[in-house]
Amino acid sequence: MEKRDYYDVLGVGKNATDDEIKKAYRQLAKKYHPDVSKEKDAEAKFKEVQEAYDMLSDETKRAQYDQFGHQAANGNFGGGGFSGGFDGFDFGDIFSAFFGGQSRSSQGTRNRPRKGSDIQRRMTITFEESIFGKREKIKVPIYEECHVCHGTGAASSKDIQTCSRCHGSGSVIMETQTLFGRSQTRTTCPVCGGSGKEIKVKCSNCSGEGVERVTKEVEIKVPEGIETGQQIRLEGFGNKGMNGGPSGDLYIVFEVKPSNSFIREGDDIVITVPITFAQAALGAEIEVPTVYGKVLLKIPPGTQSNAKFRVRGKGAPNVRTKVTGDQHVIITVETPTRLTPEQKRLFEQLAKIEDNPASKTMWDRFKSNFSRK
Ligand SMILES: [Zn+2]
Ligand SMILES: [Zn+2]
Repeated sequence: MEKRDYYDVLGVGKNATDDEIKKAYRQLAKKYHPDVSKEKDAEAKFKEVQEAYDMLSDETKRAQYDQFGHQAANGNFGGGGFSGGFDGFDFGDIFSAFFGGQSRSSQGTRNRPRKGSDIQRRMTITFEESIFGKREKIKVPIYEECHVCHGTGAASSKDIQTCSRCHGSGSVIMETQTLFGRSQTRTTCPVCGGSGKEIKVKCSNCSGEGVERVTKEVEIKVPEGIETGQQIRLEGFGNKGMNGGPSGDLYIVFEVKPSNSFIREGDDIVITVPITFAQAALGAEIEVPTVYGKVLLKIPPGTQSNAKFRVRGKGAPNVRTKVTGDQHVIITVETPTRLTPEQKRLFEQLAKIEDNPASKTMWDRFKSNFSRK
């Protein structure tokens, strides 16, 4: 249905004063109140009038509406219905005068369909699972309507009776004396909590709560490339709604266990690989692990410790774009700790060769670097 202009709804001009708006609203609210109106669509019209009044009676909202039209109201009237009080004048007043104390609408708070609440669960996965994704069935305890009483909370339908305090309306009028005279306000019935019903014998399965805890098995598809702290939403897998309302959602928040070899940095993966003195000096082709299996990496002669090499396309897939990052290989040159007699002999030979003026300057440079720290 096309949204009508709020000024048209209330039948006032764009320059209407606050009093004119209030007056127009009072008349229309009486005319269309669903408990008294004989017109069809009374409820829809009443809602429309209420919504228009909510907007135009508030100076700030009205200014926004004048500027942005119905977009200004987005998010402000999300299915709230008309359970709220009448802003601007006394609800109890109009109620007793026109509706004889019976209101279907104010009974809504408990009997209206309600969306089930959301559930959040943590899920720990391995580093590899975070890269390749996986499917796993998990058990999630959720609340759903009690299967014995179907949400009524009563042992049998005979045990549900009209509330003795509010006579089924779900709300009561409280009268208070103020400086300005008597004030009446309508509040939720303290006996039935707004349902308009009293339960004589409670359902034994749910102790009158109307809900019970059941365990549901849900298959989780872990997305490729997910990172710690990121979550997925499974719509409708949360707690069941009440009175026919939709179910809540299930959120799975992931925690990725750290890997022994790989570190993730954004969409890239970093790994540290040791090489020998000889490999560093002479260059080599070494096998480097990636999450996708081993790859060959060329180490050029004269490679220093902490040198970085890039292996393209062996990083992590971006969870949104699915574009795969790179793997960075950080080289460490390992100093041998235990030498065979032959290795020892060769190193000694090497040391002798290095004991020449050219290498000496290098050695001195190294020493002076070291002592500066
Ligand atoms: Zn029950
Ligand atoms: Zn009651």
